Amino acid sequence: MNRELSVSRVPPPPGPEIWIRRLRAREVLRCTILSTEMWGVQFHWTGKVSAPHFVPTEQCAGCQAQQPLKWRGYLHIVNQDKMVSEFLELSPALVRAVETATGLTGGWRGLRMRFERGAGDRAKVSCSLQGPDRSVEPLPAERDPLRELSLLWGLSVSHTIEVERDML
Ligand SMILES: [Zn+2]
Repeated sequence: MNRELSVSRVPPPPGPEIWIRRLRAREVLRCTILSTEMWGVQFHWTGKVSAPHFVPTEQCAGCQAQQPLKWRGYLHIVNQDKMVSEFLELSPALVRAVETATGLTGGWRGLRMRFERGAGDRAKVSCSLQGPDRSVEPLPAERDPLRELSLLWGLSVSHTIEVERDML
C-alpha cells in the first residue's frame, strides 16, 4: 500500500509570541529588565487555574461564583542565558523585593537582575541587582503581556484591551 505525506495549507494556530515565565524550584534567572515599570492584572483563582476578572463585576463569572481575586505583576525581560525575550511573573511580595533591591519603584529598564526560587515550586523567590546592563544594547522595545494572557484565557485581544481600559 502506498502512503502519502499529510499536507495542509492551514498552519497550526499561533502560540504565545513571548512566554510567560514562572520560576520553578531552585531555578535561577539572570535577566535584563525591559519594562520601565510594573504591569499587573487581577484574576480569579478557581482552585486549579487562573481565570480572567472583569469589570463591572456583575458581568464577571468569577465574581459571581465568589472565587478569590489575586494579583500578579509582569516584567518584560531578556533572559541572559537564552538571549530571548520573556515575561517574568511576580507576586506582590516579589514586586516589593524588586523595589527594595533596586531602591526604585519604576525606571527599571536596562537593569540587570538575578532571580532565584528556593527549594520548592511555591518557595520564596529572592532577587538581587547586578547593575546596569550594557551587553544587550540597543535594548529591544518593551511590551506588556496582554496578548499572551488573552491567549491563556481564551479571550479576543480587542475584548481584553477594553477590559484593561475599564480597569484604569
Ligand atoms: Zn471578577
